[in-house]
Amino acid sequence: MAALPLAMARGCPLHVRGAVDSQLLAGAERYTQIWAQWRPDRYKAAKVSADKETETEPRPTSRTWTFPFSGGVDSMFSIFANRSGDAGRDTCTPGSVFLVHGFDYALTDTKYFPTLESRVATVARALDLPFLVCTTNWKDFCVQYELDTQLGLAAIGQLLSASHEGVNIAADFTFGEDLEIMPWGNNQYMTHLLGSSQFRVAGGGANTRRVDKIAYLAAVPEALSMLSICRASKGAGNQINCEVCEKCVRTAMGLYAATGDVKPTFTRRPSLSQLLTVESLSQVELVFWQDILRQIPRGDIAARIAVRLLLMRSRFGLGFNNIFQPLEKKYLRPLHARFRASRAR
Ligand SMILES: [Zn+2]
Repeated sequence: MAALPLAMARGCPLHVRGAVDSQLLAGAERYTQIWAQWRPDRYKAAKVSADKETETEPRPTSRTWTFPFSGGVDSMFSIFANRSGDAGRDTCTPGSVFLVHGFDYALTDTKYFPTLESRVATVARALDLPFLVCTTNWKDFCVQYELDTQLGLAAIGQLLSASHEGVNIAADFTFGEDLEIMPWGNNQYMTHLLGSSQFRVAGGGANTRRVDKIAYLAAVPEALSMLSICRASKGAGNQINCEVCEKCVRTAMGLYAATGDVKPTFTRRPSLSQLLTVESLSQVELVFWQDILRQIPRGDIAARIAVRLLLMRSRFGLGFNNIFQPLEKKYLRPLHARFRASRAR
């Protein structure tokens, strides 16, 4: 499964020397077909086969699940909601959590990763769950990390298939938000394709908006104090969250919208000037900020106006890019190439 991005990038068949569950082979092949239609510029459909296809019966469903756990809002919500049974019918009983070194934190990062590792391990200990760390250079040869993340996490989860029922990958967005930004890598419509009859791959938390996840975590002090948002630290006050980058400002505003306070995750609420100077948002970030705006207290007019301004200028920027980029690709780039060629002559 970890080699699937290579096959999708080249459009070449992928053959496994050994026995593979036929459901997994069919799912993997369908996965490549869908991405080839969504992003034909990056992916091609690939045939997936094995020396031997096995037809196996599903195992009894009494075993526990493993959870990727980065210490961020989504995975923190997921692990606590599943642990307490608050995930309702979707509940997957956690049996272990794993952190990946080589995804959001580069393998060369030996400064902040140990801090993150110790924070995540603290939460796992509090939940009495085994905590595993996977070190991998897979990011170097996937096609586009943001689009392939789910595949990478599922591949790591499969390593634990002998002892777990499946891997539960926390959703980044709700089902509705997924549709707004599709195609998104960790979407909630594809996870099942990456599982086999013996080991399931599931998403979770897509019924709950990001701010509501933060509100849920606000009632779990051991989670809130260990929320790990970004990998840059200012040194003073906060061990791991810089409180300056868009992701920190966004999460702090989400926490403020949910609870009226930003502690203990952050030391102070983002100032108005911080809100007014956040760089223009991507389409993906815009979805989160819309959610925050909906939930900022009505009385906080200044914060509401600042977030509205941020949304307005980001939408304008995105609209401009949508018009300008295709024109630039079609006319300016060929002109520029011709100009350079004529100068080289
Ligand atoms: Zn930050």
